[in-house]
Amino acid sequence: MAKTKYVYFFGDGKAEGNADMRAELGGKGANLAEMATIGLPVPSGFTISTDVCKYFYDNDRTYPEQLEADVDAYLAKLEKSMGKKLGDPEDPLLVSVRSGAAISMPGMMDTILNLGLNDEAVEGLANKTQNPRFAWDAYRRFIQMYGDVAMGVDHDLFEAEIEKIKKAKGIKLDTEMDTSDLQKLVANYKKVYKAKKGTDFPQDPKEQLWGAINAVFGSWMNPRAIKYRELNNIKEGALKGTAVTCMAMVFGNKGETSGTGVCFSRDPSNGENIFMGEYLMNAQGEDVVAGIRTPQKLSQLEETNPKIYKQLCKVRSTLEKHYRDMQDMEFTVEEGRLFMLQCRNGKRTGAAAVKIAVDLVNEKLITKEQALTRVEPEQLDQLLHPALDPKVIKTQKELAKGLNASPGADSGQIVFTADEAEEWTEKGKKVILVRKETSPEDIAGMNAAQGILTSTGGRTSHAAVVARGMGKPCVSGCEAVTFPNASEVTIGEETFKKGDNITIDGTTGKIYKGIIPVVEASLSKELDTFLGWADEVRAKSVRTTPSGNKVKGFDVLGNAEQNEAPAAFKFGAAGIGLCRTEHMFFDPDKLPYFREMILADDTDERKKSLKKILPLQKKDFFGIIKTMEGRPVTIRLLDPPLNEFVPKPNAEAEIKQLAETLGKDITELKVKINALQEANPMLGHRGVRVAITYPEVYEMQVEAIALATAEAEKKGIAHDVRIMIPNVISVNEFTTVRDQALAIIAKVNEAQKMDLSFQIGTMIEFPRAALTADKIAAEADFFSFGTNDLTQTSFGFSRDDYGKFIDYYTKGNLLEEDPFKQLDPEGPGALMGIAEEKGRSVKKDLHLGICGEHGGDPASIELCYKIGLNYVSCSPFRVPIARLAGAQAVLKAKAATAPAKKPAAKGKAKAKKTSKK
Ligand code: ADP
Ligand code: MG
Ligand code: MG
Repeated sequence: MAKTKYVYFFGDGKAEGNADMRAELGGKGANLAEMATIGLPVPSGFTISTDVCKYFYDNDRTYPEQLEADVDAYLAKLEKSMGKKLGDPEDPLLVSVRSGAAISMPGMMDTILNLGLNDEAVEGLANKTQNPRFAWDAYRRFIQMYGDVAMGVDHDLFEAEIEKIKKAKGIKLDTEMDTSDLQKLVANYKKVYKAKKGTDFPQDPKEQLWGAINAVFGSWMNPRAIKYRELNNIKEGALKGTAVTCMAMVFGNKGETSGTGVCFSRDPSNGENIFMGEYLMNAQGEDVVAGIRTPQKLSQLEETNPKIYKQLCKVRSTLEKHYRDMQDMEFTVEEGRLFMLQCRNGKRTGAAAVKIAVDLVNEKLITKEQALTRVEPEQLDQLLHPALDPKVIKTQKELAKGLNASPGADSGQIVFTADEAEEWTEKGKKVILVRKETSPEDIAGMNAAQGILTSTGGRTSHAAVVARGMGKPCVSGCEAVTFPNASEVTIGEETFKKGDNITIDGTTGKIYKGIIPVVEASLSKELDTFLGWADEVRAKSVRTTPSGNKVKGFDVLGNAEQNEAPAAFKFGAAGIGLCRTEHMFFDPDKLPYFREMILADDTDERKKSLKKILPLQKKDFFGIIKTMEGRPVTIRLLDPPLNEFVPKPNAEAEIKQLAETLGKDITELKVKINALQEANPMLGHRGVRVAITYPEVYEMQVEAIALATAEAEKKGIAHDVRIMIPNVISVNEFTTVRDQALAIIAKVNEAQKMDLSFQIGTMIEFPRAALTADKIAAEADFFSFGTNDLTQTSFGFSRDDYGKFIDYYTKGNLLEEDPFKQLDPEGPGALMGIAEEKGRSVKKDLHLGICGEHGGDPASIELCYKIGLNYVSCSPFRVPIARLAGAQAVLKAKAATAPAKKPAAKGKAKAKKTSKK
């Protein structure tokens, strides 16, 4: 049997691996191999593959039998390449042993430098270099790193020894220690080691090497690496583990002509095409990050060492052209000679990602399609919301941290109720609504406030969902927020009164005292160009659905009412996919009439209230139609249960006030309110069911829609209005309500002497609707999937209650993802597929879309593309994200179906690499 290849060499202008082998060699090992091959100065070395790490954990922390012999052979190869031997008392080879996984996890795993030193070799190194101080410094660093990293001797115990020596001598800096100090330090370190480990510090370099290899593989499962993977959503099993790279040391700590640094080929914070970085002369790698000395700016290197700077500039341009992406590099200069020790596609902010992608297209290094794969859709979020001024925020300490439920940041005076939020805002004040939780009747107050802070509730709580829809910052579920009494709130350690100023940052979840200035977001020129490319890709896309239907294009629409429509338009929505008429009823000018309508004694009284609402709704509809300049506007008729609009049965004061407003008897009112209560309102009297029992409600809404459209028509304003009926479960229900609507439209047409017609479609949000989609499609003009309800009803999970148990499902691997965040392909997703097939079997070109919150989630968008939807609709602030995610779905599908190409010529293949993570 052929031996498995576990070890890969690099050096002397050649390598066994290359940049495409991240999975096996880790990012670090793969890129070192690549850099060696393209002729950059890289010290020789070898990489033990991630397969060994997998083996290690699959086999009770043991190695494949052949590994020891493999490592011996590769060490010999390395020794030959360097002309030195590990442990040679005259002229020892020293190596570093480094970690690196396929996805970069900076600082999470271990690295050991200067390995191979012992009591003899240190003398040899001192002689050979004629630099005993350097040799002893290298030795003491090695003992410290090896002791700490490989053998678990506390780092502080070593640091204490340094302090003792410095104190005794009255010196401040590590660099002020001379050779004899360092010799003393080595002796003391060895004592510390022996005291802790019970054995002498290992003198055998081979033993040291295996100790280091064990430590690096072991660090894959250290708590901080595990936590990092958890936080970054890297699933257990997605990676094989870490690779181990063992390479010849080069020394930046050999005096003033040596140094070490890190640099970026472009600015990672804004993407500007400038070379930037930091370095330290006479220092070793870890010193730059450790913050012991303050590093210098790369621009200073240009002045103090122009030769090295020029070389480095050349490397910068070589690497950028080769990888066709912004690079993050580590370098070391040993006595005037430059060495490259690491490179990778640099991490960057959303703004930088967009600018770099656009610039690289303009520089002809990548294509537009490649550019679109270089930005994570979620990264755009940072660009669309106001952010706290970074200069100011540096000087502030947060009071507490909650969940970053809705991005953006703002300041305002604390208020405790939605009513206060409205009143204070009307008086021209800026407020933050601080509550235990919010409920639908708080909508107007939430809309008035600058932002929302709650002490309970997750990212899918009412406060979070509504705030995201409104594009307002929200910090939810902050346990450090408590209410000692009705007029005070404690946040962290401090207590605030109504009217005190606080600042919330919904992007980070942090809460601050006082007012912190924000910087506004706007669609930059680059982002505009970039998203224009995404639109092109989606518009041109053609695919065949699993059921065999051909679908062209993939649009992004916005979920918006009159207040949000301008934002949807600004962010590039191709229309409104969901206008929730009930949100309009929460407006203070309509709510009283709407309540009056709900609590009416009979049909006549109800009609009277509806008459008062009609002109107000019409005005709102007209506003949206005008804003959208002829793009489709889909208006959903009333959807939620009626009891959401009236006070809770125990809200005495509110009921009393309402009785006064409506001129009704309080006892009778209470009876009515009680009668409206339902055990399970989400499955109760709502949506189309209200129209079945009280047709006049939808009739008023349809009339308002028709009148608004008629007004647009008269004024020469382009319009494309569509009417959507929610909660349908049967075609009969749909036709009944549709026919009522048609009658109203006919009446308006007659009165206005017009010939308006409207597409009338339905939401598909319950399994029965999906399963009878063929019958419904025969009558409905379009389908829009309401995936929140479809998820609730296909899972039987109530979105208001699932927070109690969902973590057990996702963390316990019972479910891959939270189904309310990411559309589940096997449940609601499969029902959508059935509805697509059945619907289009009756109407070949049936227009399909999604308007649930999933419409703004990249993974869900990809699923929607595969199912064959014509569009997704999401909250305005997610429209740019969806525009990009939709394009990426198109490109991904295209790549998956493209005939497998032979590995292209090196240069070309590289261009495809993306900067995922
Ligand atoms: P991390 O992944 O945490 O950045 P690294 O493996 O890159 O860890 O190593 C830490 C530091 O040691 C870096 O500054 C690196 O440049 C330096 N380093 C690693 N190997 C060598 C080497 N062979 N010679 C000189 N410096 C090295
Ligand atoms: Mg590094
Ligand atoms: Mg619904």
